Amino acid sequence: MENQTLESLGEFGLIDRISESFQNISSATIKGIGDDAAVIDAGSKYQLISTDMLLEGVHFDLVYTPLKHLGYKAIAVNISDIAAMNGVPLHATVSIGISNRFGLSDIDELYEGIKLACEDYNIDLIGGDTSSSRSGLVISITVVGEVAKDKITYRSGASENDIVCVTGDLGAAYLGLQILEREKQEFLANPAMKPQIDNKSYVVGRQLKPESRTDIVFDLLEKGIVPTSMIDISDGLASDILHLAKNSGKGFTVFFENIPIDNQTLETCAEFNLNPVTSVINGGEDYELLMTISQADYEKVKDIPEITPIGFVNNDGTSWLILNSGERTKLIAPGWKNV
Ligand code: ADP
Ligand code: MG
Repeated sequence: MENQTLESLGEFGLIDRISESFQNISSATIKGIGDDAAVIDAGSKYQLISTDMLLEGVHFDLVYTPLKHLGYKAIAVNISDIAAMNGVPLHATVSIGISNRFGLSDIDELYEGIKLACEDYNIDLIGGDTSSSRSGLVISITVVGEVAKDKITYRSGASENDIVCVTGDLGAAYLGLQILEREKQEFLANPAMKPQIDNKSYVVGRQLKPESRTDIVFDLLEKGIVPTSMIDISDGLASDILHLAKNSGKGFTVFFENIPIDNQTLETCAEFNLNPVTSVINGGEDYELLMTISQADYEKVKDIPEITPIGFVNNDGTSWLILNSGERTKLIAPGWKNV
């Protein structure tokens, strides 16, 4: 272990390393590090807690990200982790680090977005922290939610022959980012140029203003379905499939032809000469839900139009992507090495 570096560990290796050196003391800690949210026994229900940090220059670029959208997104992506536990969000704290580049109207704009998200998702802003920053804007949000004890869904419950499903469509947020990056370069080269994003409103919108699928949590409850495992797709389908597979000790087989993809996503792939398979499998930030359900729930899930079956939990312990040609390729998650 002497030769280990941050770089060789990667983000998930680092989290595992931190996790290994801590033991839970409280009997109320049902799940600590390792799922989309921590799970605390709150008596009749489980309380869910999730934290995410967004850093300027790492997670967002203010050249093309309106502050109002950023505020909205910061809340929505945290709520997404609560939805991934099959829970309902209730409260949020918002901490910000602000550099002297920002004026009062900027902060007002950021909080307009935060407020809109709090209204849309029906949650209360209950606190936070405010500090100056020497390295641009920093936003750290914690969302607290709850779930009935018999509805909690972890990353770890997938069983052989369960059906693998996703919500919405995938890949759009990544293609939206490509459009925004292209427009940034063109703007830098020629500031008089008007941005060419009118016919790309869907993919750009998916990047700038993602929604969390709390509606799906409601649909599942209404239909009486508790998924066997679930995660939100933040890092990309491949990476998040491997999270469910690893935590459940299983392999997944998914069929590319079954993955829902918007036409604008495919058109944009063609425009950028990007391979649709890699773009859709590895593009992150869709904030859709990836879940497994037992076969017994298949008929019920068919009534939820926003949920699409894409594969099954196999018995060989390896995760596979079946391409439209029928060729089978091992799912690997790129970017694991980058913290
Ligand atoms: P997500 O993408 O769903 O937000 P992450 O990959 O960020 O999940 O985190 C996975 C798990 O690791 C979560 O339980 C999270 O709380 C925990 N975690 C992440 N970073 C740290 C850290 N620095 N210290 C302790 N726990 C962490
Ligand atoms: Mg998550």
